Amino acid sequence: DSAISDLRFNLFVAGLLGLLGAFLIGGLSSHLLTRRLRDLIRHARSISKHPAISADFGREDIQSLAGSFDQLAQALQRQVNLLADERDLSDTIINTMSEALFALDENTRISLLNRAAESLFEFDKSPLGQELSEATGEPLLGDLVKRIAPDKVASVEFTLEAEEQRHLLAKAATQRSGRGCVVVIHDITEIRRMERMNREFIANASHELRTPVTVIRANAELLADGIFDDGPTAKKLLTALDRNAERLASILSDLLNLARLDARKYRVSLEAVPLAAVANSVVATLQPVADSKQITLELEIPVESRVLADAGTLEQILSNLLENAIKYTPERGRVWITQRSAGNRVQIRVHDNGPGIPEEHRALLFQRFHRVDTGRSRSMGGTGLGLAIVKDLAGVMKGRVGMEPGQPDGSVFWIELQVP
Ligand code: ADP
Repeated sequence: DSAISDLRFNLFVAGLLGLLGAFLIGGLSSHLLTRRLRDLIRHARSISKHPAISADFGREDIQSLAGSFDQLAQALQRQVNLLADERDLSDTIINTMSEALFALDENTRISLLNRAAESLFEFDKSPLGQELSEATGEPLLGDLVKRIAPDKVASVEFTLEAEEQRHLLAKAATQRSGRGCVVVIHDITEIRRMERMNREFIANASHELRTPVTVIRANAELLADGIFDDGPTAKKLLTALDRNAERLASILSDLLNLARLDARKYRVSLEAVPLAAVANSVVATLQPVADSKQITLELEIPVESRVLADAGTLEQILSNLLENAIKYTPERGRVWITQRSAGNRVQIRVHDNGPGIPEEHRALLFQRFHRVDTGRSRSMGGTGLGLAIVKDLAGVMKGRVGMEPGQPDGSVFWIELQVP
């Protein structure tokens, strides 16, 4: 019994020691493993900040897990870089586009806008989070947003009363995700202005052409009806017919010139042109017209003066300005040409002591068909296109034209060109 009891005691102690040993070994190995895992967690945290870091974990299985983490982190970084590049690109596109752009969230509140939108509406405070119609003060934009149907572009035209009135065209479409929409606003002021000018030009041109055509047809009919036999009357009718045919020809030639200038088909070769020689030739051609009205023509241009121009085009411009000066200056008046230098530009100035131009007409003078006194211009064979052609011709030679009131009276028409 005592031997059995000793044995039991020994077995119990041995079992206890074995258990203790197993606890110790288990605790140690689990500590070693969790330390590696803790290192791995720390590594995972650090690669979320610096994905390139690679560490040594000793054990093969944990090392391969860490390698997978690294690969995952690098793939993620590549995606993040790609997204950042795309975002950068769309930011640049959005902010360099000339159209105003608004993105609205699913509650139709502004979530994004570009620089063009900011400068078009000049918001006092940030419009982010506001309704579009509320931020812009334009109820039509609110209606537009409500009208948008999926996969369709809705549009509306409206005017904005800024410093000067602007015509705008807004287009809206839903985002591909179906949440929110985008509104793009185009400034069509210039297009509308061009359309209006085109309409006015056609109306003016038809009106100008109709008058001589009516006279020609009426006179031709009268002549055909037998008035031809009445010598003096027939002569009068024929003279009027001839004058109107000539007028028709000059309007058509001016219109053709303008069409060529508009289509940029008017070619010039710019070179150093002796100004005095060109001006002299124009003066010589128009001297008889000036003489018939006893108008003194003078030229005050230094012989050595040179301008960068096309000689033929410059002659056409000067002859047009001089012709006008002689035409509108009363008999025994004075017309003279001078030059003024400013830096690398030269102004050729045609002065007269005629009636001058009333202030309200000055800004419109170089527009097509604009006349100060329509009746007077027509009676003198004017088309109202001369100064418009002069302006375009000067533009072709990289020059400018303008008009100033003369001192003490009359007017000064000038053309400014570069020196060679
Ligand atoms: P037009 O063929 O009628 O002369 P222009 O375009 O050459 O057409 O000139 C436009 C208008 O400017 C003319 O109708 C005239 O009323 C005015 N004008 C031009 N030159 C002069 C000038 N030197 N003095 C006064 N009025 C002028």
